[in-house]
Amino acid sequence: MTETLVVGGALCRDGRLLAARRSAPPELAGRWELPGGKLEPGETPEQALVRELREELGVEAEPVERIPGEWPLKPGYVLQVWTARLLSGEPRPLEDHDELRWLGPDESESVDWLDQDRPAVAEAVRRLRVS
Ligand code: C5P
Repeated sequence: MTETLVVGGALCRDGRLLAARRSAPPELAGRWELPGGKLEPGETPEQALVRELREELGVEAEPVERIPGEWPLKPGYVLQVWTARLLSGEPRPLEDHDELRWLGPDESESVDWLDQDRPAVAEAVRRLRVS
């Protein structure tokens, strides 16, 4: 079975990381994640990430670096994460989310992250601290 790739974006600005609270499905609603989603046929992961951030947040963003690792989601789905930077626009929760927060390194534990996002969040925060 080929796994479906889900890409997440660790969007960083002014030393903060963007966290997005899911509004659906019911079992995930209220938990926080790195915005992103599934690849569509023919897309590279980077293209999918640019599209998802445009659709979900209304911004133009650019993938910067892949965070090493790969995290299993539900059966058949796997998560990869890129750091990303904003090119234009102010993120708004247009799709899938009902709240956004920019978290400084010391605030990253203040939201209830989806378990599968936690390793990538920890690495993104580590990079924020050294940048
Ligand atoms: O956003 P979308 O519904 O396309 O995401 C597909 C799946 O990937 C969902 O099950 C979602 O929970 C998961 N996901 C995740 N972490 C993210 C983005 C999506 O676990 N950062």
